[in-house]
Amino acid sequence: MDTILCLGCGTFFLPRNKFQVYCSRPGCQLARKALWQRQKLANDPDYAQGQRLSNSKWLASKPNYWKDYRSQNPDKAARNCVLQKLRNRKRTAILKGLDMPRHVGIAKMDARKPLISQLFGEFWLVPMIAKMDAVKIFIAAIPGGPE
Ligand SMILES: [Zn+2]
Repeated sequence: MDTILCLGCGTFFLPRNKFQVYCSRPGCQLARKALWQRQKLANDPDYAQGQRLSNSKWLASKPNYWKDYRSQNPDKAARNCVLQKLRNRKRTAILKGLDMPRHVGIAKMDARKPLISQLFGEFWLVPMIAKMDAVKIFIAAIPGGPE
């Protein structure tokens, strides 16, 4: 059998059978298992219900898990806060029957000039069109720059 490209890491490896598409590296096996679970959750309602029950039992045994997670990962907590506000805004618009414009979140540079010139600090750059993770950016004032 010939070597093939691993779907996880992109390196060539010798598969044990014709169904193997991930190499044996731990990261690739985690990716394979995560893909299997995503597909199983999407296609097997009994499995999904069992996982929800198992997760809620686990969380009930660790009541401070999310509080501790947020205090240990302030960046992720801040990112989620921003994304939750966007989800809430979208849900409110849907509940009110408003058509949320697709271009919400795209800044018009000329429309907000006085505000833009005062913006500096840390912000989350949240893509509204492309599906990708939010990116944390830092906007700094340039000394002697435009006002
Ligand atoms: Zn691999």
